[in-house]
Amino acid sequence: MVFALLKYGLSKAYPAREEIPRTPDLKSHYDVVIVGGGGHGASLAYHLAKHHGIKNIAILEKGYLGGGNTARNTTVIRSNYTDQRSIRFYARSLRLYEALSNELDYNMMYSRRGQLTLSHSDGVSRSLRLRADAGNFCGEANEIVDRKQIKDLVPSLNLDIKGMPILGGLWHPNAAIARHDAVVWGYAIRACERGVELHQRTEVVGMDVVGDKVTRVRTNRGDVSAGIVVQCVAGYSSVVAKMVGLKLPIRSYPLQAMVTHPIKPFLDPMVSSTALHCYISQSARGELVIGGSSDPYELYNTRSTLELKESLAASALEMFPFIGELKVLRQWAGITDMTPDYSPIMGRSPLSNYWLDAGWGTWGFKATPASGFFLAKAISDNRIPEEIQPFQLDRFERFDLVNEMGATAASH
Ligand SMILES: Cc1cc2nc3c(=O)[nH]c(=O)nc-3n(C[C@H](O)[C@H](O)[C@H](O)COP(=O)(O)OP(=O)(O)OC[C@H]3O[C@@H](n4cnc5c(N)ncnc54)[C@H](O)[C@@H]3O)c2cc1C
Repeated sequence: MVFALLKYGLSKAYPAREEIPRTPDLKSHYDVVIVGGGGHGASLAYHLAKHHGIKNIAILEKGYLGGGNTARNTTVIRSNYTDQRSIRFYARSLRLYEALSNELDYNMMYSRRGQLTLSHSDGVSRSLRLRADAGNFCGEANEIVDRKQIKDLVPSLNLDIKGMPILGGLWHPNAAIARHDAVVWGYAIRACERGVELHQRTEVVGMDVVGDKVTRVRTNRGDVSAGIVVQCVAGYSSVVAKMVGLKLPIRSYPLQAMVTHPIKPFLDPMVSSTALHCYISQSARGELVIGGSSDPYELYNTRSTLELKESLAASALEMFPFIGELKVLRQWAGITDMTPDYSPIMGRSPLSNYWLDAGWGTWGFKATPASGFFLAKAISDNRIPEEIQPFQLDRFERFDLVNEMGATAASH
C-alpha cells in the first residue's frame, strides 16, 4: 500500500490511461482470434500478450466488453471445492485475484470476506466435512464450525429456521468478492496497451473449416483469417462450437440473481445454504446480493421471473427475518453452460487450431485470472499445463470426470 502510494505520487506517467480503446478496423489476419469479450477472453488476451509475446490478437465481442455473464455474476471467489484437481486450480485463481489490483494497476475492489456454507442436516454436514478435509489437504484454509461459532461470525443469522435448524457449517476464510466490471476492464485495457485489438459489436456469425483447421472467421463486420481461434463465450459455447461442427457436452440454463437497495453494513461474510437454494452477500455499497440455483429448464433467454424472486426472497427471509422491508432494486439473468460434472472445459478441441474455454456454468468468474493464465501458456507452448490437464474435453470420453456438483450448488 505504502509503495503503491509512493509509486502514484512519484510517477510522471499518471494519470494512467484508463479508457477502453475504440474499436479499430478489422485486419485481414490475426495470430490469435478470441471469440468473446468477457473476463475470460480479456484475461487470455492479456496473458498471451504479457507473458508470451503474442500481440497480434483480436478479441471479437458481439455486444460490449464484459456485457455477458461477467456483468451478471454475483462475484463469489473461493476455492472450497471437493476434488483436489479443482481445489488446486481455483486456489491458484484466488491467489492471482489477491494480487490482481496491483498486477493490473487497476482497482478491482477485491474484498476478502470469508464464506459460510450452512448445513441443516447430518448428510450435508458429512459432505462439508469432506470438503474441509480435501481443502486443508491441499493447503487451503477451511474449518468446520458449530452453531456458536456461526453466531460469532454472523450474529444476525437466524439459526433456528423452522423445520431446518442450522446444525453447523463450513467456514472458508479466504473467500472474497471483487468488482466484476473492473476485472474485465482492467484486463482489456492492459491487453490493448500491449497491442491487442478489442472489437466490440463484432459478432462471429460463422467459421470455415478446411480439413482439421479453422481457416476463416466470419463476422458482421467482415471476415478474418487466424492462426489460432479460441472460443470464450460462456453461455453460448454450444452455439459457437456448432459453427465449427463441434457438439459439446453442455446444457444451457438461465441463472438469476437480484440485489436490494443499500442498507447499513451488517453482513461481512458470504452466507450460502444449499438446502434453501440461496446465497447472500453484502456489497461495498451496502446492497444485499442474493442468488440461488439455475432455472430448471434449458433456455437462451435472460429474462427474470417472479417465481425466482419470490423463492429467493423467502429463503433470504428465513436466514435474515429482519430484511422483510427491503426493496428489490434489480433482478437479472445470465445463461450458464452446465457440463455433466460441473467442471469447465479448457484446452484443445478435435480441430488442430481451435481451442476451448467453455462450460463455466455458475462458477466461472472466480476462474477468470487462472483460465487466462493457463490457457495462454497452453497455446503458447502447444502443451497443456498440468494444472488444466484434468479439464480437457476428452475427459468425457475417458470417463475421468471432475465431479463438483456438490460444491457448486447454490454457492457459485
Ligand atoms: C446470475 C449469475 C451469477 C453468477 N455468480 C457467480 C459467482 O458468484 N462466482 C463465479 O465464479 N461465477 C458466477 N457466475 C458464472 C460467471 O458469471 C461466468 O462463468 C463467467 O462470467 C464466464 O466468463 P466469460 O468471460 O467466459 O463469459 P462472458 O462474460 O459471458 O463473456 C462471453 C462473451 O462472449 C460474447 N459472445 C457470445 N457469442 C458471441 C459471438 N458469436 N461472437 C462474438 N462474441 C460472442 C458474449 O456477448 C459475452 O460478452 C454467475 C453467473 C450468473 C449468470
